[in-house]
Amino acid sequence: MEKSNANSAREKAIEKFLKSQQESQNSDELVKGILGGNQGALAKAITLLESTNPAHITLASEVVQKCLQHSGNSIRIGITGVPGVGKSTFIEAFGTLLTSQGIKVAVLAVDPSSSVNKGSILGDKTRMENLSTNPLAFIRPSPSSGSLGGVANATRESILLCEAAGFQVIIVETVGVGQSEYLVKEMVDFFLLLMLSGAGDEIQGIKRGIMEMADALFVNKADGENKILAQKAAQAYSNALHLFPAREDGWIPQTGVCSALKEDGIEQVWEVISTFKKDQISNKEFYKRRQYQSKSWLMNQVNGALKNQFFSHPLIQKNLDQIIAQVVSGAKTPYAGSQELMSLFLDKPTN
Ligand code: GDP
Repeated sequence: MEKSNANSAREKAIEKFLKSQQESQNSDELVKGILGGNQGALAKAITLLESTNPAHITLASEVVQKCLQHSGNSIRIGITGVPGVGKSTFIEAFGTLLTSQGIKVAVLAVDPSSSVNKGSILGDKTRMENLSTNPLAFIRPSPSSGSLGGVANATRESILLCEAAGFQVIIVETVGVGQSEYLVKEMVDFFLLLMLSGAGDEIQGIKRGIMEMADALFVNKADGENKILAQKAAQAYSNALHLFPAREDGWIPQTGVCSALKEDGIEQVWEVISTFKKDQISNKEFYKRRQYQSKSWLMNQVNGALKNQFFSHPLIQKNLDQIIAQVVSGAKTPYAGSQELMSLFLDKPTN
């Protein structure tokens, strides 16, 4: 009996060892593929990042860790604006301009609507038709499931993988109506807000906070009869941006007009971004921002992990509803309730 137990323990250990060997081999293969610029390997690694399977997560984090020292050499650009403003048309034109100069461009998306609608806006095959077949471009739709935080986490690590694969410009697209912009701002160097003329801010659903985060604001669809209106709108936005407090990094947000459809003004956007990068590297803000972002992401991860542990603790699951009811009915203060929960979590008796 004892012998067979020992045997099965040994078998399990061997199985575990073989599996870990296989995984490290897999991760090495993926890393090799990514560093060699293989888009298939890159796509596979991103799929692992988006998975909820623990084995995939372990493998994915190994891949990201191994790619880390090869990442960072890019400009990370967040692009936002309400649906219909012309984001995909803009990215198509912008990406085509950059690839025509030999620059490798990756497009990722954080799209909170995709998990609601069970389909990603970026998943639409008709979007970015030319860019999607361009060998210098890599387009990755937003995952169609998962929490916004989870999607953002996968996107952040996907950026590192894309950089390791040699992409020099990473575009992260988001929809411009809420929380996702704040997450994207935390993972990019430059944030571009696309706007429309002839619609008030409220109609466009753009919150003041999002305008405040923008490093540049371009009014799109500046073509035909709309051109003059777009210019007037850009001037009004420029005036509005001047009312915001001066920024610590010294950058003055730029405004302008463009027509993604007519591919007009797209070069100007690239000039603004290039000037930003040069300016921010020379005043040391560029890497300072990235360091701050890494630190803040670490703290986010710790917060998330603690929260998960807390809410999945059996004693918390057992007592939470009751304590909520006591607090809601006024029998217990929220502070006392929280202390009781913490004691249960930390397995300490309440005093
Ligand atoms: P998204 O939802 O922000 O990605 O917007 P799309 O790129 O899908 O564009 C929405 C619509 O606006 C499409 O019909 C585009 O052809 C059109 N559009 C995009 N950019 C321009 C532009 O610069 N000028 C004009 N006139 N139409 C544009």
